[in-house]
Amino acid sequence: MKNKSNLIFHKSKKGRTGVSFPDLEINEFNVSDFLGSDNLKTDEIDLPELSEPEVVRHFTNLSTMNHHIDKGFYPLGSCTMKYNPKINDSIASYKNFSSVNPNIPIDACQGSLQILYELGNLLVEITGMDDITLQPSAGSQGELVGILIMQKYHQKNNNKKTHIIIPESAHGTNPASVVLGGYEVVQVGTDSTGRVDIDDLKSKVNSETAGMMLTQPNTLGLFENNIEQISKIIHDVDGLMYMDGANLNALVGIVKPGDMGFDIVHINVHKTFSTPHGGGGPGAGPIAVLGSLSGFLPIPKIVFKNDKYTVEYDIEDSIGQIHSFFGNFLVLVRAYCYILTLGKTGLEEMSKVAIMNANYLKSILSDKYDIPYSKGTLHEFVISALPQKNRGVKALDIAKSLLDYGYHSPTIYFPINVPEAIMIEPTESETLDTLNDFANAMNKIDDLIDTNPEKLKNSPISTPVSRLNETLANRNLDVKFDDEV
Ligand SMILES: *Cc1c(COP(=O)(O)O)cnc(C)c1O
Repeated sequence: MKNKSNLIFHKSKKGRTGVSFPDLEINEFNVSDFLGSDNLKTDEIDLPELSEPEVVRHFTNLSTMNHHIDKGFYPLGSCTMKYNPKINDSIASYKNFSSVNPNIPIDACQGSLQILYELGNLLVEITGMDDITLQPSAGSQGELVGILIMQKYHQKNNNKKTHIIIPESAHGTNPASVVLGGYEVVQVGTDSTGRVDIDDLKSKVNSETAGMMLTQPNTLGLFENNIEQISKIIHDVDGLMYMDGANLNALVGIVKPGDMGFDIVHINVHKTFSTPHGGGGPGAGPIAVLGSLSGFLPIPKIVFKNDKYTVEYDIEDSIGQIHSFFGNFLVLVRAYCYILTLGKTGLEEMSKVAIMNANYLKSILSDKYDIPYSKGTLHEFVISALPQKNRGVKALDIAKSLLDYGYHSPTIYFPINVPEAIMIEPTESETLDTLNDFANAMNKIDDLIDTNPEKLKNSPISTPVSRLNETLANRNLDVKFDDEV
């Protein structure tokens, strides 16, 4: 075993402690006199006994066993794993934010409501929409809320609608949300440049089209140049345009979804506007909409009236409540800090540097790697490792090998319209040196295919556990440390 890190219980020594308390100044009493002896536990509690440094070292060592953004580069395509400035965490952990009880009277939490209200306004401005809900706790929940809003719109207009159009390069949550919302998925193909195939779109749109869900820029990192034409095709049959805004990191301060013909957009706050995500959360997926759809937004709605923030529950056409209270408050506080810290020009620079970094990395890597849809790359690009696979090493082996160089694996096998896809998003927060080092590692891996392919196929070897049977590891979560690992 490389990293001897037994359970904390294994390190316990009877009588060892981390604190010493002063002598009692009050007389000892029997708890059973107050609680009744029936309510007391009789068997001993098996708690670990350790010194303070042992506890600190135990958890510090554990924290470095997984890869994370504070440890190294994390070029996860689509999911935007950028460095998260510590000031956001430190402000979100102020007691007045972290301990506020959502049930306290409105008059006692005006500051918290103000933050949510103002963050909403900032996101409305960034997206060029008119109104917003901050409630959804992830992009995927935002998608579902967007679909429910579409449904309500069509019900109100007595429209008979059955399906929603999604490009083949879409994120898996898109079709899942559509089906959960009660619509059928109709898939539209990609043209030779990697964008929506307009002829195919025209052939699939009809009076039963409820709308289209489109990722802009798409998951190949490309701007859908025909967006105005696409929006018109959908609007002509009274369909609504939904933008999957998970890739907003390429657009902020440069172009607004509202100007492109979108009616609804979700924002992956935890990708674009800081908050360490991964391992399932926490996140926030606000939905911004045009004024015509504002009445359908979830309740409660925060409003500013008579010099005071209040919340409204009584909104006739609302789709209802979709999360307790106002969403993941502390994630939203981080986003508010992030946006205010960068300001208007800083946010624009953020997107531009993200685009520049992706293009820089793409240009170095294109010597040895095939990048099929490469014209117009914004914040991310997708390699096809098919040539490498033909030489004996798959995208999976390349991704696993990167762990031995200290990098998190990029997203692989997505989008599905690129065979052996490796999707790389460096984000704006990395230096030129990091990008060069990463490119060197990718190039060395390519060289190893000819000189030592076994090394790549057995990778990673420097991590706490080596190559796992991924199917088994997902189904059989055994967290015990085995001496043979
Ligand atoms: C991450 C992502 C989603 C889903 O967002 P979650 O917050 O993970 O639910 C949807 N679409 C795209 C393109 C994404 O990258």
